[in-house]
Amino acid sequence: MHCTNRKTCTREKQLINCDVLVVGGGPAGSSCAWQLRQHGLDVVIMDKAQFPREKVCAGWITPEVLAVLQLDADVYAEQNVLQPITGFRTGLIDGGNIETRYSTTVSYGIRRFELDDYLLRRSGARLELGQALESVQREGKQWIVNGAITTPLIIGAGGHFCPVARFMGAKLGADEPAIKAKEIEFKMDSMQSHDCQVQGDTPELYFCRDMKGYGWCFRKGNYLNIGLGREGNLGLSEHLKHFCDFLKKNGRIPRDIPDSFHGHAYLLYGHAVRKQFDDGMLLIGDAAGLAYPQSGEGIMPAVESGLMAAATILEAHGEYSRQQLQNYNARLIARFGAGETSGSIVPSFIRNYFGGVLLENKWFTRNVVLDRWFLHTHQPCKLPERELAFA
Ligand SMILES: Cc1cc2nc3c(=O)[nH]c(=O)nc-3n(C[C@H](O)[C@H](O)[C@H](O)COP(=O)(O)OP(=O)(O)OC[C@H]3O[C@@H](n4cnc5c(N)ncnc54)[C@H](O)[C@@H]3O)c2cc1C
Repeated sequence: MHCTNRKTCTREKQLINCDVLVVGGGPAGSSCAWQLRQHGLDVVIMDKAQFPREKVCAGWITPEVLAVLQLDADVYAEQNVLQPITGFRTGLIDGGNIETRYSTTVSYGIRRFELDDYLLRRSGARLELGQALESVQREGKQWIVNGAITTPLIIGAGGHFCPVARFMGAKLGADEPAIKAKEIEFKMDSMQSHDCQVQGDTPELYFCRDMKGYGWCFRKGNYLNIGLGREGNLGLSEHLKHFCDFLKKNGRIPRDIPDSFHGHAYLLYGHAVRKQFDDGMLLIGDAAGLAYPQSGEGIMPAVESGLMAAATILEAHGEYSRQQLQNYNARLIARFGAGETSGSIVPSFIRNYFGGVLLENKWFTRNVVLDRWFLHTHQPCKLPERELAFA
């Protein structure tokens, strides 16, 4: 990824200098930039997309995400969809289902189209949108990116296919046990709204019989989000079609949903062997492969890793050698553990020995599937105060 003709590049463009360049303006990149800006660093965020942009995602977050981001739910909801969630309907595809209720709001439904744009604008960083990272060159302790931006530190926040991760040696798309998923989010017309039995406060999650993935159906106001994620490549479209047919047959969703599903991939924490930092470079969010292994939730780890990276950068005082950045890795391990290596979205002992039987059990559904795998009530965010609050 070297610009072969740098002299021409720099002559044509005026160089932008910054303390930190963040490549990717999703939740990881914007959180990291926001924290760094609060401490006075000059940060540029580069993204190949213009914002607001669509992002393939179910758009489910826990209240902890709002807390860590210091977002006021009422203020955010004035202009954006914020669907409170107080229960879940869960089961097996083709099986029955269980409704589990909570006395408080345990999650929210958001639209990534809105949330990512909101966080990006709030970050206070200089924005270089509609610009993909194309070249990276080293000159002393500086990087020169696209022949136009100079910086001593590049943060790779470009998601699963992050070009910075590739530059650091990740074999994107090859040899990596990624989760593959397809999703659609669309605004329902009045007839579709009437026909949709899924309730906004009660999203529905249905596991595949082989327990290698699950489908979801989230309603956020008049928006409906349907998708399915699985380990590996095989048969994703067939599983998705089967899931949609199941939802329609049971009257959960309207019969005439659009079929323009979009796909994406991501790594679960502990299943990736990506290098997370190097001299003058550091990966956060999906670029580093941090999504929770049991649920595939990735927004919270993206935000937290962005904040942990920022804390590490602030401690380094402008000296971004590999050695100076290694505290980032220690922070990740302290927060998320050393990482499981089962390679499965569902722990293998559950899958092998109990299969879907336990999903018909109310106690197991509430205490293990929901509280433990999806809501992480046993593992609250433990970022130190000083990494969450600003001077
Ligand atoms: C189908 C699906 C459903 C999901 N549902 C949920 C959910 O409900 N809840 C949850 O918590 N997680 C969910 N996830 C995971 C979640 O979407 C990710 O973990 C999260 O988006 C990671 O954030 P990020 O900032 O690391 O990367 P992203 O959000 O992917 O942002 C990366 C940014 O980098 C930019 N970029 C990419 N390449 C370049 C380049 N070459 N140059 C410049 N910019 C570039 C992109 O345009 C993008 O804006 C889901 C994932 C999928 C695939």
